[in-house]
Amino acid sequence: MRRAEPAAALCLSVSICFQFTVSAPPRVKRHCSTFLATFGSTLDPRSQPRAPVLRRNAALTGDMHMEKKYGLELTNNSKASWAFSLPRSATCIGATDICKKVCYGNGVRYRTEGQKARRERNLLTIELLLEKGGPKLLAENLIALVDTVRPSDWLAASITGSQTQTPWTLRIHDVGDFHSAKYTEAWLLAVQQRPLCSFWFYTRSFSDAQVFDAMTKLASAENCKGWLSIDSDNFASGLLAYAQRPGVWQLALLQESKELLDEQVLSSLDSLRQVKQVVSFPIHRGGHHAEPIQHPALFTCLAVIGVHKLQPDAQKLRPCQACTFCLPSPRNVAESKT
Ligand code: SF4
Repeated sequence: MRRAEPAAALCLSVSICFQFTVSAPPRVKRHCSTFLATFGSTLDPRSQPRAPVLRRNAALTGDMHMEKKYGLELTNNSKASWAFSLPRSATCIGATDICKKVCYGNGVRYRTEGQKARRERNLLTIELLLEKGGPKLLAENLIALVDTVRPSDWLAASITGSQTQTPWTLRIHDVGDFHSAKYTEAWLLAVQQRPLCSFWFYTRSFSDAQVFDAMTKLASAENCKGWLSIDSDNFASGLLAYAQRPGVWQLALLQESKELLDEQVLSSLDSLRQVKQVVSFPIHRGGHHAEPIQHPALFTCLAVIGVHKLQPDAQKLRPCQACTFCLPSPRNVAESKT
């Protein structure tokens, strides 16, 4: 938990999800002229970011009869809380055979038509915004999105100087990955503009030099932590990337059972000086997980082994918010105010 922004940020947290369309038929556009005017201003790179529709994470199209082609939306899950997602096939440019097999995206929750459509909309929208106004315009819209998920008691906590019930956090990509430098640059701008929100991400996109450079800048931000995801298939290139930018990156291991894990993975971790610096995710499915491997460098995810239970109630701390191992430290976030 953390202290909310001081008086300067007492402005009401404007909500929300903004869905829009540029391809609606003329009749629909006439009926929705106000909305489209707002949408137009959001797309204008000279405009200030604003959230045009005052409904929290709700799709607009139900009552506006508009095609749900564009929009940026977050998802909320019982482990990490708020997260931004993209389609795996188009964005996981460094996916390995192992991660494809055990990806979150294979889970029932993530395979519904609604979830898939949401990820597709997010991708279409970031492409459109990048085309219309580059990383700056996309960042403005990401910031508006991030602002929608400030804790609900943010305003009260700001006035009284107390702590919010839950921290303001966002995992970038619970499904999907960084696939272009410009997209990554947009997140950097957004993260810099919201120093009191804690961001974190895991990535396998480190083989693309431009994306890796952009991600390294993002992972260097005080309120953002970046994890290079390694497994038996990619650990050599992951460790190389890790060594190229000392002090910036963290390592995350997708841990198979000891019999299946490439034995060189553990021996390559022997040289790491700090104990428990690599977060390890024993492969898990349906409440079962691979036996956690013991190694001085490994810290086994507390959610996987059940120390922190999945929390369906969004008003309570989710496992990652309670554990915080993968998140930037709240102290850093507080310091960034000064
Ligand atoms: S180690 Fe902690 S913060 Fe990281 S994924 Fe697991 S529960 Fe979340």
